[in-house]
Amino acid sequence: MKSGMCPKCGSRDVRITPGEPISLSYSRVELVPLLKYVCLQCGFVEEYVAHPDRDRARLATGDLACRAGGAVPLSDEVMRLARDPTTRDQAIAVYSQQAGVGREEATKAVEAYLAFGK
Ligand SMILES: [Zn+2]
Repeated sequence: MKSGMCPKCGSRDVRITPGEPISLSYSRVELVPLLKYVCLQCGFVEEYVAHPDRDRARLATGDLACRAGGAVPLSDEVMRLARDPTTRDQAIAVYSQQAGVGREEATKAVEAYLAFGK
C-alpha cells in the first residue's frame, strides 16, 4: 500500500490522509500521528505510524507495550526498579521472569520504557 499500489485490487489510485492519532497511556496529551492509505478503487484502507523511526521507543511502552503474540506490559515493580540505575539489572531480571522472555528481549523492553521517559 505504501508503494502506491493497493494489495487487494491492484489499483494505483491510492491516496494518503491523516489517521486518528494513537494516544499513549502514560500521557494522554502525547499522541502518535498515523497516516491512512485509502484505495479509491475498492475502498481498502490501511494505517501506518507516520514516523516509525522517531516514535518507535514511545510506542513500545504504554498501551502498546503488549506485543502481538503475547508479551506482557511492564509491571509497576519493574518500572520502579528500572528508573533507578542501581536496580536496572534487577528490573530486567524481574521482567524476564514475569513476561517469560529472554534477557535480551527484557533489556529491550526496559530500555524502551526508559527512552520514553517517566
Ligand atoms: Zn483497492
